[in-house]
Amino acid sequence: MLSRAKSEALFAEALNYIPGGVNSPVRAFRAVGGKPFFVNRAAGCRVWDVDGNEYIDYVGTWGPAILGHAHPKIIAAVKAAADHGTSFGIPNPGEVTMAKMICSLVPSVKKVRMTNSGTEACMSAIRLARGFTKRDKIIKFDGCYHGHGDSLLVKAGSGALTFGSPDSAGVPADFAKHTIVLPFNDTDAVKTAFTANQNEIACIIVEPVPGNAGLYLPKPGYLEFLRKVTQENGALLIFDEVMTGFRLAPGGAQERFGIRPDLSCFGKIIGGGLPVGAFGGCGDIMDYLAPLGPVYQAGTLSGNPLAMAAGIAALQELSSNRCEEALTESVVEKEKRGKGAEGQSASGDGISFSPFPLFPSAKPGSAYVLLEERGAKLEAGIREAAKSAGVPVTFNRCGSMFCGYFTSEPVWNLTDAMKSDRERFKKFFHGMLDAGVYLAPSQFEAGFLSTAHGETDIERTAQIAAKVIRTL
Ligand code: PLP
Repeated sequence: MLSRAKSEALFAEALNYIPGGVNSPVRAFRAVGGKPFFVNRAAGCRVWDVDGNEYIDYVGTWGPAILGHAHPKIIAAVKAAADHGTSFGIPNPGEVTMAKMICSLVPSVKKVRMTNSGTEACMSAIRLARGFTKRDKIIKFDGCYHGHGDSLLVKAGSGALTFGSPDSAGVPADFAKHTIVLPFNDTDAVKTAFTANQNEIACIIVEPVPGNAGLYLPKPGYLEFLRKVTQENGALLIFDEVMTGFRLAPGGAQERFGIRPDLSCFGKIIGGGLPVGAFGGCGDIMDYLAPLGPVYQAGTLSGNPLAMAAGIAALQELSSNRCEEALTESVVEKEKRGKGAEGQSASGDGISFSPFPLFPSAKPGSAYVLLEERGAKLEAGIREAAKSAGVPVTFNRCGSMFCGYFTSEPVWNLTDAMKSDRERFKKFFHGMLDAGVYLAPSQFEAGFLSTAHGETDIERTAQIAAKVIRTL
């Protein structure tokens, strides 16, 4: 058993001054019991707590750390930017560079507005969709989380789901009534909603690969269906790519699945670990924003020079096509040898999406190919561990995002996800943590790999998982 005495003392102190001792609910470990540890250093795929314990980290600051923690290029960029001042409140060149990078990586985005968080990006995109279509209602899916904006905290995922209150107190019923919540992967539910609310639905907002109730994938054709049904009904399609953007492919889930939404929301990776968000789309819609158009949206720190510098460094490094570690045999090479048109498979063992070729811009040696390879290795290790222990685990994965559910049934939506044995998850979480592997402290969160997770880290994780699963 590790000693976490210093963390415990800090948490006791924090409880006196911070509600629940944390600045974001899921950090409180309530879903798994016990107390959170306090981190004072992170590098590569590792974090160290204040008691000096080391963990292999699969949370990756909830997604941003795709290159691992404290990547030297990001740290250097932030230091250099800080020397010139931390905020100007008037345009800075980094904003233009960042906007150009996002537009060139994500073809559906022609113009983009920066925000300070993913929450702001989603809230603003919804307001823009309502202003543009002159309609009030929106469709979202249960288990999807789009930040903590009022109209989006209805049957939300992430912390809201973890604490059993997917509907937050403090959201006026008058706001919530404009939010139609439907099950993910259910085409009939969407058709019925459009029929019942003709000319009233402004948009569908969706996580194209939902990662806030664990992780489940869109069924083949589902995202194409959402694209078509919104077009037919004069509604906008918003992809919330705060988590998937620049992670599942340089152009996000929309590149990986070949769909062009009207608006996209981003965050996490594009801030390189600093607070950030963004939303973008075609010029016609984006020009509805102030100062050009009637939809108001603003931010004192939006486009902050430090966040821009960190994000630009991260995107540059991700698209550099040079991985720090040599690839043994990339999935692209495997495909060339004709081994693997596996596509999407669903069984009780889980769902993984490994389209071959991965996506148009997946090049041998790129970060994305490395992430795919590492993801496949982790998946194989955990599946083997579960199988040999005789414990039913459904392991879902898309590239570097993953989730293991303690159920033998496939997981395609929130109802399926809820079948996971959460008592088992709790024991698994603590067993892994005590052995030096940090997973998200809730069944209803995705895990993240980074390019800094080496083969040996993954092998070690699988060995530890094999031991822990046998004890469940
Ligand atoms: N959208 C998605 C898909 C997210 O995963 C998150 C946060 O995890 C958000 C929006 C909100 O982003 P933020 O926490 O930066 O406000």
